[in-house]
Amino acid sequence: MSIFSIDRIDGRARTGIVTTPHADVETPAFIPLASRASVKSMLAEEVKALGYKMVLGNAYHLFLSPGHEHIKSLGGLHRFMEWDGALITDSGGFQIFSMGHGRVADEIKGRAQVSVGEERQAAILSIEEEGVRFRSYIDGAERFVSPEVSMDVQAALGSDIVLAFDECTPFHAGRDYTAQSMERTHRWLDRCIEWRKKNGDEDRALFGIVQGGVYRDLRDASAEKISSAPVSGIAIGGSLGKEKEQIYEVVDWVTAKLPENLPRHLLGIGEVDDLLAAVALGVDLFDCAMPTRLGRHGMALAADPNGRWRIDLRKAPARDQDIPIIDGCGCGACNKYSRAYIHYLVRSSEMTGVRLVTNHNLFFMAKLMEGMRKSIAEGRFEQYREAVLDGAVPWEVQ
Ligand SMILES: [Zn+2]
Repeated sequence: MSIFSIDRIDGRARTGIVTTPHADVETPAFIPLASRASVKSMLAEEVKALGYKMVLGNAYHLFLSPGHEHIKSLGGLHRFMEWDGALITDSGGFQIFSMGHGRVADEIKGRAQVSVGEERQAAILSIEEEGVRFRSYIDGAERFVSPEVSMDVQAALGSDIVLAFDECTPFHAGRDYTAQSMERTHRWLDRCIEWRKKNGDEDRALFGIVQGGVYRDLRDASAEKISSAPVSGIAIGGSLGKEKEQIYEVVDWVTAKLPENLPRHLLGIGEVDDLLAAVALGVDLFDCAMPTRLGRHGMALAADPNGRWRIDLRKAPARDQDIPIIDGCGCGACNKYSRAYIHYLVRSSEMTGVRLVTNHNLFFMAKLMEGMRKSIAEGRFEQYREAVLDGAVPWEVQ
């Protein structure tokens, strides 16, 4: 089932539209996380007003609490959280294996190396062909997730796009383990497809996930396998490397192997420079906790490459600054409120502070992506990318 059409191509970057039952999503697009049926601190209508057409729910968290059957009985996740746009859910694989493999999330983004072992025992009880047994972080109860369970959960939630159940292998896993795990992820994809056939769920879009760690032959093999399956899109998952250069290299290998006509989703990546690099390599969709997580810590996105595109509003300089986070930013926070006010709110743990910074961060991301789409359409994506990497504010790049 084709849900993607490409509008313009500039180098390897593309603009297009992902069509879902609830909304058409212009790409390249950033997808805010609504892991626990909420984009943290924001109302669904506020997220929509910022221009977002799709959010990402989390099968793992919602399976554990409040339960997918519960949400289904209340009309599905769209109704439950009052979101009428497109909804993609991740399969739970990433979260389950994050517990088992240590801080996978950090590793994937090249931030840290962790030692093998210890944490794994804390939560995962067994990884077998059939599926994964683990302890719930909520009540310690033993739970089991398989490809079939994941498909069932995501269907019950009413997602527009579901992700195949995969094992997210960490960087330290090594080649042998990564290869075996990738093969199992491929077999799990076949079982996801089988479940959908049996349960009449084939009209719902499914994205397969390319694994294979930092090994080129494995990534090639996985890209080939996933591309040949009946999927509507392809996600790139797992460890992409320790450093940014390696991450970009892995994304380069994978996108070079993928068919043009399927949307490509790079899982869990959201730093400004990473988004620009991946779009240049032909990635269409992104999701990441970064803008909302930073918001909760009083960190605002800004056009500051040397400061990792962020300003820490908790720090002393903001205390006396009667200026917006970014001069000329059109967001609800910058229109009216000063850094000094937000500094005070965040330091006082006032929730309004978190809401203001999160609103600004999501606005910044929306504008960054809008700038990418516009510049691709006008055949000047590289100039846009260089300008932003140089410290230009996304909406000021001409
Ligand atoms: Zn702003």
